[in-house]
Amino acid sequence: MNIILLGPPGAGKGTQAKLLEERHGLKQLSTGDMLRAAVTAGTETGKKAKAIMDRGDLVSDDVVVAIIADRLDQSDVKKGFILDGFPRNTAQAEALDTMLSGKKLKLDAVIEMKVDDEALIQRITGRFTCATCGQGYHDVFHRPKMEGVCDNCGGTTFTRRADDNEKTVRDRLGIYNKQTAPLVRYYGERGSLKTIDGMAEISDVTRQIEGVLSSV
Ligand code: ADP
Ligand code: ADP
Ligand code: ZN
Repeated sequence: MNIILLGPPGAGKGTQAKLLEERHGLKQLSTGDMLRAAVTAGTETGKKAKAIMDRGDLVSDDVVVAIIADRLDQSDVKKGFILDGFPRNTAQAEALDTMLSGKKLKLDAVIEMKVDDEALIQRITGRFTCATCGQGYHDVFHRPKMEGVCDNCGGTTFTRRADDNEKTVRDRLGIYNKQTAPLVRYYGERGSLKTIDGMAEISDVTRQIEGVLSSV
């Protein structure tokens, strides 16, 4: 099964993608995670992307389309994939369509996660991640069971993203509304769009997504 999780920054895409990976053996393909890995590794792509990401702007379509094209050729996506953070504009969606038909792959569903702007800002400014395994947490909504210790791997080091501050988040939301929100219509017209209530608590959002997946 191949799906897209579509939603603004902080909607819960990464949280749900990780849960779906475990339950269904799908592979999460997060362009944000891949770009952050390139920044950390200091590759040419990472050097170019860093300042753009820190401001909350979009990295060029050529770069992210090439990253995804390369990932879709690897064997770990054979059981299916979850696109998280890609596509982010119409040009990327069109490039994805061309890519998928060239590889004889298809999308089973595009799941739109709807969340109010103020909730998004609260989610993003409280977000932190295990530095060892990448498990996501939140200061209020999802704390580790034992203070300071990752539930998943026992790691004790956590990181916060440089772009997860209120100013950059508002800019990212502006870009989402202008460039990414039109994809709701794009996929709506193609019949693959399913909309869920992303305001619900994490386990309830998972239940809604499972409902969509069992219907396709
Ligand atoms: P979030 O999960 O908060 O929406 P991401 O991790 O998806 O954020 O993205 C972080 C940043 O990486 C974006 O603000 C943007 O600069 C860059 N980025 C990620 N995916 C894309 C993409 N598909 N196209 C362009 N830029 C991207
Ligand atoms: P995205 O990948 O869409 O940017 P994340 O999955 O990283 O979003 O979630 C953003 C933050 O909100 C994280 O700190 C996460 O723990 C928290 N979060 C995710 N889903 C929910 C939810 N349904 N209710 C409350 N907080 C949530
Ligand atoms: Zn961990």
